[in-house]
Amino acid sequence: MRWSACHCRAENYQRVQRQWWMRPVWNRRLYHCQACGEALFIAPTEVLFRRAEEKAVHLGTGTAAAAG
Ligand SMILES: [Zn+2]
Repeated sequence: MRWSACHCRAENYQRVQRQWWMRPVWNRRLYHCQACGEALFIAPTEVLFRRAEEKAVHLGTGTAAAAG
């Protein structure tokens, strides 16, 4: 299990139920990365940020392609 996000796209992250000992850690949630199979115990805000970033990059590519 990792305490930081992996290098895969955040869209691969799926929320899973935390184990009992994780519950006192209120600022982190447990995710499962479907790309590399790693369990990630990270802040949900980080996941939201990563997803927004991925979306922005995707949109940026689309704009560049349209311009070019
Ligand atoms: Zn991963």
